[in-house]
Amino acid sequence: MLIVKNLKKKYKDFLALKGISYEIKEGEIFGILGPNGAGKSTMIKILTCFHKPTSGTVTINDIPITNIKKIKPLIGWVPQEETFYPKLTVKENLEYFASLYEIPRKEFKQRSEEILRLLQIEHKTHSLAGSLSGGMKRRLSIAIALIHNPKIIYLDEPTAGVDPVSRRALWDIIRKIKQKGITILFCTHYLDEAELLCDRIAILRAGEIIAINTPSKLKKEYKTLEEAFIKLVEHENNKIS
Ligand code: ADP
Ligand code: MG
Repeated sequence: MLIVKNLKKKYKDFLALKGISYEIKEGEIFGILGPNGAGKSTMIKILTCFHKPTSGTVTINDIPITNIKKIKPLIGWVPQEETFYPKLTVKENLEYFASLYEIPRKEFKQRSEEILRLLQIEHKTHSLAGSLSGGMKRRLSIAIALIHNPKIIYLDEPTAGVDPVSRRALWDIIRKIKQKGITILFCTHYLDEAELLCDRIAILRAGEIIAINTPSKLKKEYKTLEEAFIKLVEHENNKIS
């Protein structure tokens, strides 16, 4: 459903994305695994129409992302940084973001209840967003990304900096979102969660995709995913130096 072709992004003289291409099938969890600075956030900002690519194309169900009006309702974005309002409650934040998509009041009530249940934060409905724990804040960010019923969501390192128990809870939530039929693009640098959650993984290094495969095939070739990651990244490093 999502097709990325030869995507490049230049910041002044620095080429952050060097022509990446991949396709994501409907309903799959597609992982982008890459060390810090690999270009994961740059790529997501292009997919969300936040940044313009220097060249290359992206389409969702054959609609080019340059058609922002048609693309926006299809996508949900959980950025690396929190984007909600800390002085609003969980419910007020959802109301605010729903209003940006002009969701009718009745539909909002039903959707927000369903999403709060899915994210297991009903008990925090009236808490101030700023007072939530790290894990709960991530859940609120995911709830906001789902409020307009997107077809695909982009998760940018959703478990970075949260404690191990909250990470596991987030994994369960991501699996439940997949069960709802929503396609997921998932950027991370944690190998364990990439292996557990992703149907396929692309390894991104310094703006280039150096491998795309299922976790089990990567493991078959390299014994563990960690080994695959280190070997592939090292191999590319050696080619450069
Ligand atoms: P990741 O999310 O994988 O950690 P980023 O996409 O944030 O990587 O960054 C990729 C590279 O592009 C890094 O070297 C970063 O310093 C650079 N970069 C990111 N945003 C900008 C920007 N706005 N201007 C200049 N360089 C940038
Ligand atoms: Mg990033």
